[in-house]
Amino acid sequence: MKAISSACTVAFPARLAETGFQHADEAILVTDQHHRIVAANPRFVELTGKPLNALVGATLEAAGLGGRWHVDGPRFVAELENGGRARAEVRWRDAHGRERPGLLSARRVQEPPRAPHQVLVLTDLTCLAVPDAAAVMSREVYFDSLTGLPNQQLTTQLIEESIRHARRHAGQLAVCALDIDHFKYHNDQLGRQVGDLLLATFAQRINHLLGGDDVVARVGGDEFVLLLHGVEDDSLYQRLLEAIEQPLELQGHSVRLTASLGVTCFPDDCGEGDVLLRHATQAMYRAKQRGRNTFHRFDPNQDRELQVRQERRTRLAQGLARDELRLHFQPQVDLFDGSVVGVEALVRWQHPEEGLLMPGAFLSVVTGSHLEQRLGEWVLEAALRQTAEWQGAGIDLPVHVNISPAHLLSDTFVTGLEALLARYPNVSPSRLKLEILESTAIHDVQQALATMRRCQAMGIDFAIDDFGTGFSSLTHLRQLPVDLIKIDQSFVRDMLSDPDDLAIVESVIFMANRFKRPMLAEGVETLEHARALVNLGCCLAQGYGIARPMPAEALPDWLAEWPHRHEWRALTLQTLGAGRRVAAR
Ligand code: C2E
Ligand code: CA
Ligand code: CA
Repeated sequence: MKAISSACTVAFPARLAETGFQHADEAILVTDQHHRIVAANPRFVELTGKPLNALVGATLEAAGLGGRWHVDGPRFVAELENGGRARAEVRWRDAHGRERPGLLSARRVQEPPRAPHQVLVLTDLTCLAVPDAAAVMSREVYFDSLTGLPNQQLTTQLIEESIRHARRHAGQLAVCALDIDHFKYHNDQLGRQVGDLLLATFAQRINHLLGGDDVVARVGGDEFVLLLHGVEDDSLYQRLLEAIEQPLELQGHSVRLTASLGVTCFPDDCGEGDVLLRHATQAMYRAKQRGRNTFHRFDPNQDRELQVRQERRTRLAQGLARDELRLHFQPQVDLFDGSVVGVEALVRWQHPEEGLLMPGAFLSVVTGSHLEQRLGEWVLEAALRQTAEWQGAGIDLPVHVNISPAHLLSDTFVTGLEALLARYPNVSPSRLKLEILESTAIHDVQQALATMRRCQAMGIDFAIDDFGTGFSSLTHLRQLPVDLIKIDQSFVRDMLSDPDDLAIVESVIFMANRFKRPMLAEGVETLEHARALVNLGCCLAQGYGIARPMPAEALPDWLAEWPHRHEWRALTLQTLGAGRRVAAR
């Protein structure tokens, strides 16, 4: 990476550089203008078994780097002299004269008044355990034939090796997944052959942008992986993207490419090699989503969160299968005459270890997954079963069921509901009220309308839930066939202390009256709330002040007790007065 960051290179203390040279894990050589060795570090001596005095003054070939170069020596030297850097897969000879695979990266240093020289880093690839007999094959196995870069197979092993290195030296490693944007388009435009040339040229450019022991590999058609050692900051990726954007000239074509980069950094992200690669790729897709020609950093915390959500979802699916879900019911009353007008079914999870969980603790992990519909169907069925049971016991109340947007908009919603109702022939569809969020219809108004009309034709009513929290209340009120408006509890709860909330409640009541729709206030926590609502002309109410949600078996007792709650019944008289006042306006 030094090439693009050279602008900000700071003077490196000579003694520190010397220490690095002496103790580096990689074998390092310094060669002069004539490519003769002037210095070799202890690791090089150790690897090749050649004494330092035999190395100094020798050529690369004599140092054991000759023999069967896979990229020919003269080309390597030419590339180094013209481009300032070069990289090649080489075979080197160890202390026992055995040929071994290696990666040789070289950089030309021109810092007058010193004569130009080269720094070469030899990375031992013996760790890849290529059996000697298969050594000849190793090129095809580990290197991409088009670009000469390490391939997918070698990449995974290089990442492992880099992680080990970073661990040993408390260093850092950035794994970057790079994908050329719209490569298919360029390939189609240029034709296969020039397309291949484009890839090879692109690979070369990236290779030249890197330095030291950084690695670029080609892991797929237009997919590359970069391994960057050392601390990298965001500006580096930005500069890399800018360098990539410079036009490439090939066979009379000038091609401008952009790329998307995904980055993950060890040790912040401390998985195995394949995990880091997966995370970098994940981040690269995020960069694509964000509009391409950009980079995105993988966030390990976010990933852990996703994992937790996934586990929770799996556990909830088990919970559904093991019959751990429950419905609680919250009564809804008419403050005008004290009658109970319905109950709202609210789902709970009776978790064997965690106790009774509220929807807030588990519904969000279901949203957007296949479980959303399964859970919705379970709730509908359980609500119908309970209604049938109550009817048998002489309790005949409409049951409100919350329907999630995705469930309502699914293709099978109506047929599923018909099948369910057929299983409970004693329950009239008019006993079922579906509560949908104001936002439900926003994605697909037509689909929502069609579904709602089919349900209405079956005799099922709808209520708009949490009214006032959406953005297009008026439009929806006009369009949607709803029979009840539920004023969101957050406004009702604070209406006594917050003039803004009071104003919202007043205007919702005003609108509901204008559209001639009944309204119900949620979140009625105290008698004062009820009194204020009655004064504003809203008589249907639900809230902790009247009753908390309760298991089905508790409802008969509450029903028996409710008529004796005298302070609430006294509201009836007030209601009559308020009714007269409203009528007189
Ligand atoms: P919601 O539909 O607005 O339901 C009312 C929520 O307010 C319930 O919370 C209820 O316990 C709570 N509540 C009722 N009266 C009061 C009150 O006076 N004060 C306060 N502070 N809260 C009150 P719960 O049961 O935790 O449900 C939360 C939300 O979860 C529901 O809000 C609904 O959107 C969703 N939900 C519940 N059951 C289901 C279900 O079966 N299916 C779907 N899709 N969503 C459900
Ligand atoms: Ca509701
Ligand atoms: Ca609500």
